[in-house]
Formats: sequence, C-alpha cells, structure tokens
Amino acid sequence: MNSEDKFKCRVCGLDQSPDMPWGESGREPSHDICSCCGVEFGYEDDSLENCLSIRRNWAQVERCKWFSPKDRPLGWDMAAQIRGIPLPYKGAEDEQLIQAFLQAGEPPAQGLAALSAVEKPSR
Ligand SMILES: [Zn+2]
Repeated sequence: MNSEDKFKCRVCGLDQSPDMPWGESGREPSHDICSCCGVEFGYEDDSLENCLSIRRNWAQVERCKWFSPKDRPLGWDMAAQIRGIPLPYKGAEDEQLIQAFLQAGEPPAQGLAALSAVEKPSR
C-alpha cells in the first residue's frame, strides 16, 4: 500500500486524513465510522470480499448516501473517490457502480435525506 492509501476508506475511498482507518501498520483499526459509506473501520472492512459487498450495497441500494451528510463536500466527485480506493480493495465492478450512479443521478430527497437537505442550505 502506498502511504496515501493509509488515509482512505477501503469501501468508498473517502480520505480520512489526518486519521488512518487501519493505523500506521494497517493492522490497528480505529473503529471509527466512515462519514461517507458508514462502514466501521476494523469491523466490516476486514476483507476484500466484505469491502466489495458493502460497496455494492452502498452504491446500488443506498445510492451512495452519505452516512454523515453534513460532511459531504459541495460538488462531491463520487467517481474520483471510488477510483481512488486503495488498490488491494478495488473491485472489478467499481467502474459499473460509478456509471450506474452517474446515470441515475441523485436520488430524490425523502425521509431523513429530505430533512438534512432542509437543514443544510442556510449556512
Ligand atoms: Zn467509506
């Protein structure tokens, strides 16, 4: 793994710096929650297989919903983030997930998502 990868979520590729989800050694998970895909470092992302299945569910079922919507940057570049996932945790279908997400566009705001959308703009 290159050093940049130590800062990235294995499931969605979000840069967690200055925190390292799996520590300096890659073996000491922080048990923090990714504010993007919502995975717990060290619990759900402990194997490539798990990372792929969580990523698929997050992209296809949750439509890349942010676990912590307030942390989502304006103009979030989902494709760039997914393409930046650490190499050992990339999946063959990542590009399909990206294309499907880009073609479908943002899901309509409803329920909790609508609520946070209402809270967001005023600042
Ligand atoms: Zn993540």
